[in-house]
Amino acid sequence: MAIFKAIRIDKAEKGTTAALTQFDDADLMEGDVTVAVEWSTVNYKDGLAISGKAPVVRRFPMIAGIDFAGTVIQSTHPSWRAGDKVIGTGWGMGETHLGAYAERVRVKGDWLVALPAGMSGRDAMAIGTAGFTAMLAVLALEKHGLTPNDGAMIVTGAAGGVGSVAISLLARLGFHVIASTGRTSEAGYLRDLGAAEVIDRNEFSAAAKPLAKERWAGGVDSVGSTTLANLLSMTKYHGAIAACGLAGGMDLPSSVAPFILRGVCLLGIDSVMCPIARRKVAWERLAKDLDRAKLAEITHEISLDEVMETAPKILAGQIRGRLVVKIA
Ligand code: NDP
Repeated sequence: MAIFKAIRIDKAEKGTTAALTQFDDADLMEGDVTVAVEWSTVNYKDGLAISGKAPVVRRFPMIAGIDFAGTVIQSTHPSWRAGDKVIGTGWGMGETHLGAYAERVRVKGDWLVALPAGMSGRDAMAIGTAGFTAMLAVLALEKHGLTPNDGAMIVTGAAGGVGSVAISLLARLGFHVIASTGRTSEAGYLRDLGAAEVIDRNEFSAAAKPLAKERWAGGVDSVGSTTLANLLSMTKYHGAIAACGLAGGMDLPSSVAPFILRGVCLLGIDSVMCPIARRKVAWERLAKDLDRAKLAEITHEISLDEVMETAPKILAGQIRGRLVVKIA
């Protein structure tokens, strides 16, 4: 296939433009594995890249899309052969390396993870970077030593992609999960996922006190700003919050009080450059611990043609759960 469909981002006089167009195989970037993309997804970062709302794209032209699942069609990498089913997320795809909203990608074989046995490419993209990040956050909280006996877990941005998967994972592991959302009308959805309590995110919109009443042992935060600051001030002695997002802002108006007076830890989560060994562990755990029926319930399928109109919706916090994009 010399010419294929792709969402291409170009630099414009003011900002960037994005369009579903044709791309030439010959213009794909360097890499030792070429993959026929079957499924992708829409993450918050994809919304930023397509709408040009943040400088996510750092090479032009760019093919947007940070995640894919597909089948290897050509490989000179020792680990991969034609026919292998693979997952690719992050590593700068859709930012500095041509990305996933395309029928073809060419990448480094070292970036790829084998699709876990029993998991479909569609399931993998229903998880996507958002679900993978939620799993990395849960692994970090476990590594910190937190168990259901230590207390509750708070999840912010609860109805979003990271939040929905984090709730499902933590509830399955036996935690009492408190879901914080701006969409309290989604309380039923969040309880179905496993939340034991649903609270209004407005509780965390005011400036945080250095220390407040202890409410949870840990949490997964995809919001940042005053939300993360409040979470830290309400975390129990020796608890931990895994910070992975900035949906509410990039700042952190906090103090050192939770760290030095309660021994609270702030665990940073990065999915993009996550080492391959940790990726394998995370995907194995997702295959084992994520309730696939629940995943199906929170997943909505769209076509490549519909991705462009979806970008502003995810930035506006209007997407519930996860989206999969059927590419081939
Ligand atoms: P979604 O848009 O699916 O979810 C974000 C959720 O955050 C929304 O659904 C909403 O939840 C809440 N939210 C949105 N705007 C605000 C606001 N102004 N104030 C408070 N809450 C808000 O995005 P994802 O789940 O895909 O990503 C979540 C965040 O995590 C993003 O910032 C993203 O960039 C980041 N991320 C980071 C990764 C990493 O490697 N560190 C990887 C993946 C994502 P509700 O309606 O329930 O309140």
